[in-house]
Amino acid sequence: MGKPFPADVYAARMDRAARSAAGKGLTGLLVMPGPDLAYLCGYEPPMTERLTTLIIAPDREPVMIVPRLERGDAEKCPGSSQLRLLDWPDGANPYEIAADLLGELGTYAITDSAWALHVLELQETLPEVAYTSMTKSLPMLRAVKDEAEIARLGAAGAAADRAYEEILQRRFAGRTELEVSADLADLLRHFGHETVDFTLVCAGPDGADPHHRAGPRVIAEGDMVVMDFGGLLDGYGSDATRTVHVGQPSALALEIHDLVRTAQQAAFDAVRPGVPCQEIDRVARRIITDAGYGPQFLHRTGHGIGLSTHEPPYIVEGETQPLVPGMCFSIEPGVYLKGQFGVRIEDIVTVTETGGRRFNESHREMAIVA
Ligand code: ZN
Ligand code: ZN
Ligand code: ZN
Repeated sequence: MGKPFPADVYAARMDRAARSAAGKGLTGLLVMPGPDLAYLCGYEPPMTERLTTLIIAPDREPVMIVPRLERGDAEKCPGSSQLRLLDWPDGANPYEIAADLLGELGTYAITDSAWALHVLELQETLPEVAYTSMTKSLPMLRAVKDEAEIARLGAAGAAADRAYEEILQRRFAGRTELEVSADLADLLRHFGHETVDFTLVCAGPDGADPHHRAGPRVIAEGDMVVMDFGGLLDGYGSDATRTVHVGQPSALALEIHDLVRTAQQAAFDAVRPGVPCQEIDRVARRIITDAGYGPQFLHRTGHGIGLSTHEPPYIVEGETQPLVPGMCFSIEPGVYLKGQFGVRIEDIVTVTETGGRRFNESHREMAIVA
């Protein structure tokens, strides 16, 4: 959980959310625990079977329904002075309370990760009301970061860089992926992360599987090693990937690493306001495809990042959303040679008025480790 922002920041966010909802023809928003709720009022309760929901609608004071036993926590959240709290005791039906506020008709955008339990109960209570996914209907709700958010993402990126520079000094050959992964997690915490969400360490052929995490494989001389790591610092995410080599690389290893680095750089150079998200993907993909490795670039080029590590805007073919100053996302092309090795290089980038700025500045050249 990050340090709270001033209360008026949350008031402005809730107001903007209500206006965006109206602009999209929505009746309002049903915000459930998770990044949406943290963003709009700074409240981060666990998601449980007891209903907690913030209802935002145009021309109406925001209302948050909370279980009575959690009212004290809700009152302490930084946005609580900007909304009305309604609590319900165990035994009462919170969906009836929500129904009174929602009205019998209309369409509400609802947090993507809302539990089916809650959505089904709401549907049963209000069969005429329609629900749509928050990211489908309001994809840009959290996408454009303000200065304070950018500063936090920058700090998270800098801490990830320090963890990477430190891991290069450690031993790779003879240790397992899991051991190096545990070291990376410790380093992220050491440099200020409050949570570590992933520390992928994928050696040799394991690196050719973009979803491999870390396993008992003993890292050996001659292995390419993909490391993809991140977590939250002050509530905001880091997510960086570097690919290193144990001992001297082969000509193919050098060629692929160089190709991915060139594609990553070109995609970064293409970042500026007004460019559609898909164009950043196309720039990276064109370079890799021209080199003959298009089919081995197995995933989209990037994803937005903020209070969560995967969120809009997605840097993918078909996403025509133009880049806007303040958007923050990853640029992470990769090439995966089945049975041999993989290479991925990932930085978090923010859109400025004139181009892009990276939050990760650690060396992207292939580091040789021991
Ligand atoms: Zn897998
Ligand atoms: Zn990553
Ligand atoms: Zn990523």
